[in-house]
Amino acid sequence: MTQPIYVTQPYLPPLEEFIPYLQKIWDSKILTNGGPFHQQLEQALCEHLGVKHLALFTNGTIALVTALQALRITGEVITTPYSFVATAHSLLWNGIKPVFVDVDPNTLNLDPTKIEAAITPQTTAIMPVHVYGHPCDVDAIQKIADNYNLRVIYDAAHAFGVQDKAGSVLNHGDLSVLSFHATKVFNTFEGGAIICPDAKTKQRIDHLKNFGFVNEVTVVAPGINGKMCEFNAALGLLQLKHIDQALARRQEIDATYREQLTGVKGIHCLSQAGEKVANYAYFPILAQPDYPLSRDALYDKLKQHGIHARRYFYPLISDFPMYRSMPSAQRSNLPVAADAASKILCLPIYPALQSQEQQRVIDLIKGA
Ligand SMILES: *Cc1c(COP(=O)(O)O)cnc(C)c1O
Repeated sequence: MTQPIYVTQPYLPPLEEFIPYLQKIWDSKILTNGGPFHQQLEQALCEHLGVKHLALFTNGTIALVTALQALRITGEVITTPYSFVATAHSLLWNGIKPVFVDVDPNTLNLDPTKIEAAITPQTTAIMPVHVYGHPCDVDAIQKIADNYNLRVIYDAAHAFGVQDKAGSVLNHGDLSVLSFHATKVFNTFEGGAIICPDAKTKQRIDHLKNFGFVNEVTVVAPGINGKMCEFNAALGLLQLKHIDQALARRQEIDATYREQLTGVKGIHCLSQAGEKVANYAYFPILAQPDYPLSRDALYDKLKQHGIHARRYFYPLISDFPMYRSMPSAQRSNLPVAADAASKILCLPIYPALQSQEQQRVIDLIKGA
């Protein structure tokens, strides 16, 4: 029996390389609260990513929740239904009403031409997602935000290392949020970060992730415990040493899929969205009506052969019970997202995926 193949497999550096980091933690007995590895990783990521300030978090979801609090967002926030559920959950955790707007059919990112119609006097911000690491139309979104005096917080959970013509895609908007979950391109087992442009905001974020403490006796806000511990930070430092190699292998896998699947009747490979440096985090295909199988039949067929492709993002966030009664969650408001959710399939892509394994995936799709 061949090993099952999952949509992703976390990248783990050689274990022996991690031992010296553990030794340091054991020697110093500093386990958390902004220890040396935490400080080093914040610095190293700023340099690697080309961003000014970065605050590490215990995970991406707590980072999203905190990002909204850092900017004191209230009322309504315009967001996308086509994402991982944490995007909208972060709004509910803050007592904010998500307002879903449809996505662009080419990128599956929030469609800027549909945002204005959803703005009300309660709207305070836009929370778009760089889905699959493909950049949003950041210029159009910023223009709307400027016109209506709205803040922009990007859920950039998929966008580690992505650059557009202006440099890191993480520099757009007011804040960007990364996830370092095991399934992401760069992982610290669990982890996340907020990227912000100025030291003052970074300081507020640092307070908010530590219960609101600004010193031993002063608490300025009902902050959360969102601190990344030294173990995870050390994993990040080690992971960073291997990231270029990991991305290079992802790029090869992406190229092979594109070469072999382009021209297969009924299979559409989602293309990049103008990034200058991509991260090949996902390989999404759409099973069109002229493909011999439905998306779900293809999903089942692959599964029967031990290949666990994933339907990211199906169901839409707006179809989950805590959202579906909202007016903006109605299918008639989100036709493009609903159509994509019914056709999408993300194929296995990760550095350790073997060429013959990838070929098996391709052959199964071609032979449908
Ligand atoms: C993974 C992910 C998150 C949540 O990140 P965690 O680190 O798992 O909490 C949020 N948004 C999107 C789009 C994601 O893919």
